[in-house]
Amino acid sequence: MSMDRFARAASIDGKQFAAGLLERIKKDVEILKAQTGVVPGLAVVLVGDDPASSVYVASKHRQTVAAGMKSFVHQLPAETSQNELLGLVHRLNVAPEVHGILVQLPLPVHLDPNAVIQAIHQDKDVDGFHVSNAGRLFTGNPVLVPCTPLGCMMLLKDTLGENLSGLHAVVVGKSNIVGKPMAQMLMNAHCTVTVVHSQTRDTAELCRAADILVVAAGRPGLVRGDWIKPGAVVIDVGINRIQDGGKSKIVGDVAFGEAGHARAITPVPGGVGPMTIACLLSNTLTAFRGQHNLAIAA
Ligand code: NAD
Repeated sequence: MSMDRFARAASIDGKQFAAGLLERIKKDVEILKAQTGVVPGLAVVLVGDDPASSVYVASKHRQTVAAGMKSFVHQLPAETSQNELLGLVHRLNVAPEVHGILVQLPLPVHLDPNAVIQAIHQDKDVDGFHVSNAGRLFTGNPVLVPCTPLGCMMLLKDTLGENLSGLHAVVVGKSNIVGKPMAQMLMNAHCTVTVVHSQTRDTAELCRAADILVVAAGRPGLVRGDWIKPGAVVIDVGINRIQDGGKSKIVGDVAFGEAGHARAITPVPGGVGPMTIACLLSNTLTAFRGQHNLAIAA
Protein backbone atom coordinates (compact mmCIF):
# COMPACT_ATOMS: atom_id res chain seq x y z
CA MET A 1 0.00 0.00 0.00
CA SER A 2 1.42 3.43 -0.84
CA MET A 3 1.60 6.10 1.82
CA ASP A 4 -1.27 8.44 0.96
CA ARG A 5 -1.04 11.82 2.65
CA PHE A 6 -4.69 12.42 2.03
CA ALA A 7 -5.95 9.11 3.38
CA ARG A 8 -7.98 9.26 6.58
CA ALA A 9 -7.24 6.92 9.46
CA ALA A 10 -10.20 5.84 11.56
CA SER A 11 -10.33 7.67 14.88
CA ILE A 12 -10.47 5.33 17.88
CA ASP A 13 -13.08 6.90 20.14
CA GLY A 14 -11.85 6.21 23.68
CA LYS A 15 -14.43 8.55 25.15
CA GLN A 16 -17.30 6.53 23.73
CA PHE A 17 -15.68 3.18 24.60
CA ALA A 18 -15.05 4.37 28.18
CA ALA A 19 -18.68 5.52 28.50
CA GLY A 20 -19.86 2.04 27.46
CA LEU A 21 -17.43 0.40 29.89
CA LEU A 22 -18.67 2.63 32.73
CA GLU A 23 -22.26 1.58 31.96
CA ARG A 24 -21.26 -2.09 32.15
CA ILE A 25 -19.41 -1.43 35.43
CA LYS A 26 -22.51 0.27 36.87
CA LYS A 27 -24.62 -2.80 36.06
CA ASP A 28 -21.95 -5.12 37.53
CA VAL A 29 -21.90 -3.04 40.74
CA GLU A 30 -25.65 -3.63 41.13
CA ILE A 31 -25.24 -7.38 40.55
CA LEU A 32 -22.32 -7.62 43.02
CA LYS A 33 -24.25 -5.63 45.66
CA ALA A 34 -27.21 -7.99 45.29
CA GLN A 35 -24.93 -11.06 45.46
CA THR A 36 -22.92 -10.02 48.52
CA GLY A 37 -24.85 -7.24 50.29
CA VAL A 38 -21.63 -5.19 50.15
CA VAL A 39 -20.98 -1.99 48.15
CA PRO A 40 -17.60 -1.98 46.35
CA GLY A 41 -15.38 0.81 47.72
CA LEU A 42 -12.33 2.65 46.37
CA ALA A 43 -9.98 4.71 48.57
CA VAL A 44 -7.85 7.40 46.92
CA VAL A 45 -5.04 9.06 48.87
CA LEU A 46 -3.80 12.50 47.84
CA VAL A 47 -0.80 14.05 49.58
CA GLY A 48 -0.26 17.78 49.07
CA ASP A 49 -2.04 20.15 46.70
CA ASP A 50 -0.56 19.53 43.26
CA PRO A 51 -3.26 21.08 41.01
CA ALA A 52 -3.19 18.36 38.30
CA SER A 53 -3.38 15.60 40.96
CA SER A 54 -6.29 17.36 42.68
CA VAL A 55 -8.19 17.45 39.36
CA TYR A 56 -7.51 13.72 38.75
CA VAL A 57 -8.61 12.78 42.28
CA ALA A 58 -11.82 14.85 42.02
CA SER A 59 -12.60 13.16 38.71
CA LYS A 60 -11.93 9.68 40.15
CA HIS A 61 -14.23 10.48 43.09
CA ARG A 62 -17.06 11.68 40.80
CA GLN A 63 -16.87 8.66 38.53
CA THR A 64 -16.62 6.19 41.42
CA VAL A 65 -19.81 7.60 42.95
CA ALA A 66 -21.51 7.71 39.52
CA ALA A 67 -20.77 3.99 39.11
CA GLY A 68 -22.62 3.27 42.36
CA MET A 69 -19.49 2.53 44.42
CA LYS A 70 -18.30 4.06 47.67
CA SER A 71 -15.51 6.60 47.32
CA PHE A 72 -13.17 7.42 50.20
CA VAL A 73 -10.87 10.36 49.45
CA HIS A 74 -8.08 10.95 51.97
CA GLN A 75 -6.49 14.33 51.49
CA LEU A 76 -3.29 14.74 53.50
CA PRO A 77 -1.11 17.84 53.92
CA ALA A 78 2.10 18.14 51.87
CA GLU A 79 4.21 17.78 55.04
CA THR A 80 2.78 14.31 55.87
CA SER A 81 5.61 11.98 56.95
CA GLN A 82 6.39 8.62 55.38
CA ASN A 83 5.26 6.87 58.60
CA GLU A 84 1.96 8.75 58.68
CA LEU A 85 1.27 7.83 55.06
CA LEU A 86 2.25 4.18 55.61
CA GLY A 87 -0.01 4.17 58.70
CA LEU A 88 -2.99 5.24 56.58
CA VAL A 89 -2.18 2.62 53.92
CA HIS A 90 -2.05 -0.09 56.63
CA ARG A 91 -5.45 1.02 57.99
CA LEU A 92 -6.95 0.95 54.48
CA ASN A 93 -5.42 -2.50 53.89
CA VAL A 94 -7.57 -3.93 56.70
CA ALA A 95 -10.69 -1.75 56.22
CA PRO A 96 -13.48 -4.11 55.08
CA GLU A 97 -15.38 -1.36 53.22
CA VAL A 98 -12.29 -0.59 51.07
CA HIS A 99 -11.65 -2.99 48.17
CA GLY A 100 -9.22 -0.85 46.17
CA ILE A 101 -6.50 1.58 47.25
CA LEU A 102 -4.79 4.14 45.02
CA VAL A 103 -2.12 6.57 46.18
CA GLN A 104 -2.04 9.44 43.71
CA LEU A 105 1.42 10.02 42.19
CA PRO A 106 3.63 11.99 42.14
CA LEU A 107 4.15 12.24 45.91
CA PRO A 108 6.01 15.19 47.50
CA VAL A 109 9.76 14.62 47.11
CA HIS A 110 10.41 13.69 50.78
CA LEU A 111 8.20 10.59 50.39
CA ASP A 112 9.34 7.32 48.81
CA PRO A 113 6.66 6.28 46.27
CA ASN A 114 7.99 2.75 45.87
CA ALA A 115 7.82 2.00 49.61
CA VAL A 116 4.25 3.31 49.69
CA ILE A 117 3.15 1.30 46.64
CA GLN A 118 4.68 -1.90 48.02
CA ALA A 119 2.85 -1.30 51.35
CA ILE A 120 -0.55 -1.51 49.61
CA HIS A 121 -2.02 -5.00 49.98
CA GLN A 122 -1.59 -6.75 46.62
CA ASP A 123 -5.29 -7.70 46.53
CA LYS A 124 -6.30 -4.00 46.87
CA ASP A 125 -3.62 -2.67 44.50
CA VAL A 126 -5.97 -1.29 41.81
CA ASP A 127 -3.13 0.58 40.08
CA GLY A 128 -1.42 -2.78 39.50
CA PHE A 129 1.98 -1.39 40.54
CA HIS A 130 2.76 -3.83 43.40
CA VAL A 131 5.60 -6.25 42.61
CA SER A 132 3.24 -9.22 43.11
CA ASN A 133 0.85 -7.89 40.50
CA ALA A 134 3.73 -7.00 38.17
CA GLY A 135 5.02 -10.56 38.67
CA ARG A 136 1.62 -12.08 37.92
CA LEU A 137 1.48 -10.08 34.69
CA PHE A 138 5.06 -11.07 33.85
CA THR A 139 4.31 -14.78 34.33
CA GLY A 140 1.15 -14.63 32.21
CA ASN A 141 -1.36 -14.82 35.10
CA PRO A 142 -2.50 -11.22 35.39
CA VAL A 143 -5.04 -10.17 38.03
CA LEU A 144 -4.67 -6.43 38.73
CA VAL A 145 -2.77 -4.67 35.94
CA PRO A 146 -1.91 -0.99 35.36
CA CYS A 147 -4.96 0.96 34.17
CA THR A 148 -3.54 2.85 31.19
CA PRO A 149 -2.10 -0.15 29.31
CA LEU A 150 -5.25 -2.12 30.22
CA GLY A 151 -7.29 0.62 28.50
CA CYS A 152 -4.94 0.49 25.49
CA MET A 153 -5.45 -3.29 25.19
CA MET A 154 -9.22 -2.85 25.27
CA LEU A 155 -9.07 -0.26 22.47
CA LEU A 156 -6.71 -2.45 20.43
CA LYS A 157 -8.99 -5.48 20.71
CA ASP A 158 -12.02 -3.36 19.90
CA THR A 159 -10.23 -2.18 16.72
CA LEU A 160 -8.46 -5.37 15.61
CA GLY A 161 -10.55 -8.12 17.23
CA GLU A 162 -9.65 -10.38 20.15
CA ASN A 163 -6.90 -12.21 18.29
CA LEU A 164 -3.68 -10.17 18.12
CA SER A 165 -1.52 -13.27 17.76
CA GLY A 166 1.57 -12.86 15.58
CA LEU A 167 1.21 -9.11 15.04
CA HIS A 168 4.36 -7.04 15.48
CA ALA A 169 3.82 -4.50 18.24
CA VAL A 170 6.30 -1.70 18.93
CA VAL A 171 6.03 0.09 22.28
CA VAL A 172 7.75 3.48 22.58
CA GLY A 173 8.69 4.04 26.24
CA LYS A 174 9.61 1.62 29.02
CA SER A 175 8.17 3.13 32.19
CA ASN A 176 6.80 0.84 34.90
CA ILE A 177 3.43 2.57 34.59
CA VAL A 178 2.87 2.32 30.83
CA GLY A 179 5.64 0.96 28.56
CA LYS A 180 6.72 -2.19 30.41
CA PRO A 181 3.25 -3.50 31.38
CA MET A 182 2.01 -2.63 27.87
CA ALA A 183 4.79 -4.71 26.31
CA GLN A 184 3.99 -7.57 28.68
CA MET A 185 0.26 -7.50 27.92
CA LEU A 186 1.00 -7.55 24.18
CA MET A 187 3.37 -10.49 24.69
CA ASN A 188 0.68 -12.30 26.69
CA ALA A 189 -1.59 -11.71 23.67
CA HIS A 190 1.07 -13.48 21.53
CA CYS A 191 2.31 -10.40 19.69
CA THR A 192 5.94 -10.07 18.70
CA VAL A 193 7.03 -7.12 20.80
CA THR A 194 9.79 -4.54 20.36
CA VAL A 195 10.33 -1.91 23.05
CA VAL A 196 12.13 1.30 22.11
CA HIS A 197 13.18 4.08 24.48
CA SER A 198 15.31 7.19 24.71
CA GLN A 199 18.58 5.27 24.21
CA THR A 200 17.38 3.18 21.25
CA ARG A 201 19.16 3.49 17.91
CA ASP A 202 17.03 3.47 14.75
CA THR A 203 13.79 4.22 16.61
CA ALA A 204 12.05 5.45 13.44
CA GLU A 205 12.98 2.32 11.49
CA LEU A 206 11.82 0.02 14.28
CA CYS A 207 8.51 1.89 14.53
CA ARG A 208 8.01 1.54 10.76
CA ALA A 209 7.91 -2.24 11.20
CA ALA A 210 4.95 -2.09 13.62
CA ASP A 211 1.47 -3.44 12.93
CA ILE A 212 0.58 -2.01 16.34
CA LEU A 213 2.40 1.12 17.52
CA VAL A 214 1.87 2.21 21.14
CA VAL A 215 3.58 5.48 22.00
CA ALA A 216 4.16 6.54 25.62
CA ALA A 217 7.18 8.84 25.65
CA GLY A 218 5.79 12.18 26.81
CA ARG A 219 7.39 13.94 23.80
CA PRO A 220 4.95 16.02 21.72
CA GLY A 221 4.91 15.05 18.04
CA LEU A 222 7.82 12.57 18.44
CA VAL A 223 6.33 10.02 16.03
CA ARG A 224 6.20 11.45 12.52
CA GLY A 225 4.06 10.19 9.66
CA ASP A 226 6.95 8.33 8.01
CA TRP A 227 7.51 6.32 11.26
CA ILE A 228 4.10 4.71 10.75
CA LYS A 229 3.58 1.72 8.49
CA PRO A 230 0.55 2.13 6.19
CA GLY A 231 -2.35 0.28 7.79
CA ALA A 232 -0.85 0.21 11.29
CA VAL A 233 -2.99 0.78 14.39
CA VAL A 234 -1.54 3.61 16.48
CA ILE A 235 -2.25 4.13 20.18
CA ASP A 236 -1.03 7.51 21.40
CA VAL A 237 -0.71 7.52 25.20
CA GLY A 238 1.12 10.86 25.42
CA ILE A 239 -0.45 13.81 27.20
CA ASN A 240 1.57 16.97 26.59
CA ARG A 241 0.53 20.55 27.24
CA ILE A 242 2.00 22.87 24.60
CA GLN A 243 1.62 26.52 23.60
CA ASP A 244 0.16 26.96 20.11
CA GLY A 245 -0.45 30.45 18.75
CA GLY A 246 -0.56 31.90 22.27
CA LYS A 247 -3.03 29.24 23.40
CA SER A 248 -2.33 26.26 25.63
CA LYS A 249 -3.49 22.90 24.31
CA ILE A 250 -3.05 19.17 24.94
CA VAL A 251 -1.38 17.04 22.28
CA GLY A 252 -0.10 13.48 22.09
CA ASP A 253 3.27 11.99 21.15
CA VAL A 254 2.23 11.34 17.53
CA ALA A 255 2.04 13.99 14.79
CA PHE A 256 -1.66 13.22 14.34
CA GLY A 257 -2.02 15.20 11.09
CA GLU A 258 0.64 13.04 9.42
CA ALA A 259 -0.93 9.71 10.38
CA GLY A 260 -3.71 9.56 7.76
CA HIS A 261 -2.26 6.35 6.27
CA ALA A 262 -2.64 4.47 9.57
CA ARG A 263 -5.59 2.10 9.76
CA ALA A 264 -6.74 3.72 12.99
CA ILE A 265 -5.34 6.07 15.64
CA THR A 266 -6.39 7.36 19.05
CA PRO A 267 -6.84 11.14 19.14
CA VAL A 268 -5.45 13.23 22.02
CA PRO A 269 -7.51 14.22 23.88
CA GLY A 270 -10.37 11.70 23.65
CA GLY A 271 -8.42 8.48 23.01
CA VAL A 272 -6.53 6.68 25.77
CA GLY A 273 -7.11 9.37 28.43
CA PRO A 274 -10.79 8.61 29.19
CA MET A 275 -10.02 4.87 29.44
CA THR A 276 -7.76 5.18 32.47
CA ILE A 277 -10.38 6.00 35.12
CA ALA A 278 -12.85 3.51 33.60
CA CYS A 279 -10.15 0.83 33.92
CA LEU A 280 -9.46 1.89 37.51
CA LEU A 281 -13.11 1.21 38.35
CA SER A 282 -12.97 -2.05 36.41
CA ASN A 283 -9.92 -3.02 38.50
CA THR A 284 -11.80 -2.10 41.68
CA LEU A 285 -14.48 -4.64 40.72
CA THR A 286 -11.79 -7.22 39.93
CA ALA A 287 -10.33 -6.59 43.42
CA PHE A 288 -13.81 -6.82 44.99
CA ARG A 289 -14.51 -10.14 43.26
CA GLY A 290 -11.13 -11.48 44.41
CA GLN A 291 -11.85 -10.49 48.02
CA HIS A 292 -15.29 -12.15 47.87
CA ASN A 293 -14.03 -15.30 46.14
CA LEU A 294 -16.15 -14.57 43.09
CA ALA A 295 -14.99 -15.48 39.59
CA ILE A 296 -12.96 -12.71 37.95
CA ALA A 297 -14.73 -11.48 34.78
CA ALA A 298 -12.84 -12.09 31.53
P1 NAD B 1 8.01 8.38 31.66
O1 NAD B 1 8.63 9.73 31.54
O2 NAD B 1 8.06 7.64 32.94
O3 NAD B 1 8.63 7.44 30.53
C1 NAD B 1 8.86 7.90 29.23
C2 NAD B 1 9.52 6.81 28.43
O4 NAD B 1 9.67 7.30 27.09
C3 NAD B 1 10.91 6.44 28.93
O5 NAD B 1 11.04 5.04 28.95
C4 NAD B 1 11.87 7.06 27.90
O6 NAD B 1 13.03 6.26 27.69
C5 NAD B 1 11.00 7.08 26.64
N1 NAD B 1 11.39 8.17 25.75
C6 NAD B 1 11.58 9.48 26.06
N2 NAD B 1 11.99 10.15 24.97
C7 NAD B 1 12.06 9.27 23.96
C8 NAD B 1 12.43 9.35 22.60
N3 NAD B 1 12.82 10.51 22.07
N4 NAD B 1 12.39 8.23 21.84
C9 NAD B 1 11.99 7.06 22.37
N5 NAD B 1 11.63 6.91 23.66
C10 NAD B 1 11.67 8.00 24.44
O7 NAD B 1 6.49 8.60 31.17
P2 NAD B 1 5.17 7.69 31.38
O8 NAD B 1 4.69 7.80 32.76
O9 NAD B 1 5.38 6.33 30.78
O10 NAD B 1 4.17 8.52 30.44
C11 NAD B 1 4.40 8.68 29.06
C12 NAD B 1 3.37 9.62 28.49
O11 NAD B 1 2.08 9.07 28.65
C13 NAD B 1 3.30 11.00 29.16
O12 NAD B 1 2.98 11.97 28.19
C14 NAD B 1 2.19 10.86 30.14
O13 NAD B 1 1.56 12.09 30.44
C15 NAD B 1 1.26 9.96 29.39
N6 NAD B 1 0.36 9.17 30.24
C16 NAD B 1 -0.96 9.18 29.93
C17 NAD B 1 -1.84 8.44 30.69
C18 NAD B 1 -3.29 8.46 30.32
O14 NAD B 1 -3.65 8.61 29.19
N7 NAD B 1 -4.18 8.30 31.22
C19 NAD B 1 -1.39 7.71 31.79
C20 NAD B 1 -0.01 7.67 32.05
C21 NAD B 1 0.85 8.41 31.26
